[in-house]
Parts: sequence; C-alpha cells; structure tokens
Amino acid sequence: MAEEFGTVVIGAGLAGGTVVESLRDAGYTARIALVGSDPAAPYYRPDLSKKVMIEGSDPADSALRGEDWYSAHEVETFFGTSVTAVDTDAQTLTLDDGGDLSYGQAILATGSVPRTLDVPGAQLGNIHTLRDAGDAVAIRSQFGEGKEVAIIGGGWIGLEVAAAAQSHGCNVTVILHTDAPPLSGTLGQELGEYFEDLHRKNGVNFLKNAETTAFTGDSAVEGVETTAGSVPADLVVIGIGADPAIDLASSAGLATDNGVIVDEQMRTSDGSILAIGDIADAQNVLRGERLRVEHWDNAVRQAEVAASTISGGTKAYDWQPYFYTDQFDLGMEYVGRGDPADDVVIRGDKSSGEFIVFWHRDGTVTAAMNVNVWDYGDELRALIGKEVSADRLADEQVPVGEL
Ligand code: NAP
Repeated sequence: MAEEFGTVVIGAGLAGGTVVESLRDAGYTARIALVGSDPAAPYYRPDLSKKVMIEGSDPADSALRGEDWYSAHEVETFFGTSVTAVDTDAQTLTLDDGGDLSYGQAILATGSVPRTLDVPGAQLGNIHTLRDAGDAVAIRSQFGEGKEVAIIGGGWIGLEVAAAAQSHGCNVTVILHTDAPPLSGTLGQELGEYFEDLHRKNGVNFLKNAETTAFTGDSAVEGVETTAGSVPADLVVIGIGADPAIDLASSAGLATDNGVIVDEQMRTSDGSILAIGDIADAQNVLRGERLRVEHWDNAVRQAEVAASTISGGTKAYDWQPYFYTDQFDLGMEYVGRGDPADDVVIRGDKSSGEFIVFWHRDGTVTAAMNVNVWDYGDELRALIGKEVSADRLADEQVPVGEL
C-alpha cells in the first residue's frame, strides 16, 4: 500500500527545496514528501563553482535549510532516492528502493543532466562534469599549484571553473570547439571577447577550433587529444551544456517540447502534476512566449509560483530571466533575453571594468548586463522590452531610471 501524501516533490534541488518551504509558508498543511537522488538536503547550487571551489567552503554551508527544518515542518525527506516511474492514473510514484508513494499533487523538479563526451578514455579518473556538491568537492580536491587543468566548453561552468582553478595556481586551458570567443552563444562576439580577454589577462589559455577526440592516461587522465593538438591534463572538467531531465515526465505521458510544457502557473498537461525549474518549458505572460531557463533565479521563483498554484493563489510566471556570474574581479548581473546577434550598446567605458551593456534589436532593449556596477537591478529590468534609442542608452548624462 503506497504511503499517501498531499504533495510529492520529485527532485530536491533549489526548485524542490524552495517549493516545500513556500508551501509551508503559504499555510499548506497536508503531508509533503521531498524525494531527491542527491544524498544531501537542497543547497544553493550557484555556490558550487564559486564559494565552494574558490574559498573552499563546505557545500553543507550552502544548504537552503538544515535537515532539522524538514522534520520541524513535517516535510518527509527521501534524499539519495530516485523516482523511477509515475503512474498518472493511480497517482502513485515508484522509488528506486522499491517503495511507492501516492500523491494528490506531484511537482516535478528534476533539473538538468550535464552532457558528457563519448570519446575514447572518457572513463579515466579525474574527468568530471559539474552538477552536484560531490562533483564540486572532487574537482576542488584536484586544484593545486602547477596542476594542469583542461576545461572543455566555454560556457558558464567552463569560465567559472577556469577562474576558480586559476585562483588556486593551476595552469588552465579552456578548449573551445569553434573559433568564437567563450560565452558568445549568449553574449555575442563583443562581450565574448571581453570575457576572453579577462581570462587571458589572468593567465587562462584558450585552444580554439578544437574538437575533443580522446582522453589519454592509464587510470587517471593525463591529456586531452583534440583536432587542434594535445593538452596536458591532471584534471578535466567538461562544461558543454546540460539537458533537461524529462525522461520521467515523458514516460508518464506529459506533454513535452523544449522541456515539460507548463502554463503560467506551472501546470503540466496532467491536472495533478506541476513542473518547475530547468525542465519547465513555461508560458511567460510578461514576454508572451514559452521559455525554458536553466538558472537558479528561475528555479526559486517558479517554485514560489507552484506553491501558490497548489495553495489556490494567483502567482504567475511574469518576470524577465535573470542570472549572475563572478569571475576573477568581475561580477555581473544579466536580465532579459538577448540574441547574440543583437546590437550591443555600451554605457560607460569597458576598459574601466565598470559599465552597463544593453542588447538592442529594432530600437527595443532585449537584455541588459551591469558589470561591476550595482543597484540598477530594478531599473534595468524595467527597460527590457522598452523602445529606447541607442544614443540615449549610451548617454551617461541621462540617469538609468529616466531612460
Ligand atoms: P552552457 O553555458 O550552455 O555552455 C556550454 C558551452 O559548451 C558553450 O560554450 C558551447 O559552445 C560549448 N559546447 C557545446 N558542445 C560542445 C562540444 N561538443 N565540445 C566543446 N564545447 C562544446 O553550459 P554549461 O556551462 O555546461 O552550464 C550548464 C548549465 O548550468 C547551463 O544551463 C548554465 O546556464 C548553468 N549554469 C549557470 C551559471 C550561472 O548562471 N552563473 C553557472 C554555471 C552553470 P557553443 O555555444 O559554441 O555550442
């Protein structure tokens, strides 16, 4: 006989951890189960490539709540446990330990799975992706003065780990499969070059047009073979993107497209199941389109919407995407959703290291990024989708709040 719960949350990451807390905050009193394959209680994942790797902090310090919070709030936890099947007719879930849970509402918050490289040598030691606390600690343990670190992929993980490894005295090479600068798939050519320069100035090497063909070594990795030559490696970190973990949703028969399709209140095609975070291909009412966003802010805010939906509230997905990064002495926040081909307008002097970037298409602001200048968050957010001329955006005599 399956144990009965009012709500079962599948996935105990940032989205799953936030939704149980938001449900209790909203006065939800029914039994809640939180099931997650990670053995640890939910933690603030952005810390992994920053505080945990650079400052050496314990991932447990990044926990959203101590384990006692869950028992105090009558949230029954199944950490280190995976859901293997969902029966939408019976409203039951099967766990990998053989248990069954029944649900009134289920919330899928299964996150993303890092992509790997299927090349010879991929099974060698010290080759990692970065997704969970265990990965971060394993990667950090290999950092050290003079260690050769090869990073495959020039996205957010690639560059944040590069900065962390460099700060520990490693010799870091970022391997890019094209000629384009890192991050250019999101930020475009000009800002990609800016980030590449920042890394080069701090000693990071880049190898471009380099498809990885093999890893070499005996038991642990010693090198990366690429179409542009070999790179020595005591440690390899693969950051080539992630795929939404939608297998459970698909096999349960939920509608999927670029993720699990949900409405603006996070409801899937099944009336008893919601989906949030990295997997949710969600209707954004502010932008009038469906979006799937793989950033922490989205996970937290969609969790709050899902808790509201279950509690009979009216919260909806009505905000612009947002994320931030810290690399060396650069801190930035990005809001909106620019296309890398959009025009770029710089407000301030890039060479000073403190400036604002606008992405601009057909006279409209599509995204904004503040680099080492702060307290503009709400003002920049309000500009997304607004028609403002490029001259005015660049004119520092016009206060940002009056653009
Ligand atoms: P990502 O940001 O999507 O970057 C993936 C990078 O890998 C891109 O530069 C891509 O280049 C490159 N790439 C793709 N296939 C490749 C291949 N076969 N060989 C070499 N390079 C390849 O993904 P990520 O850095 O792996 O991060 C995973 C997820 O975590 C992302 O959703 C990211 O947004 C999120 N994350 C966010 C933050 C933050 O918000 N600060 C920090 C860490 C992670 P092309 O574009 O040229 O294909």
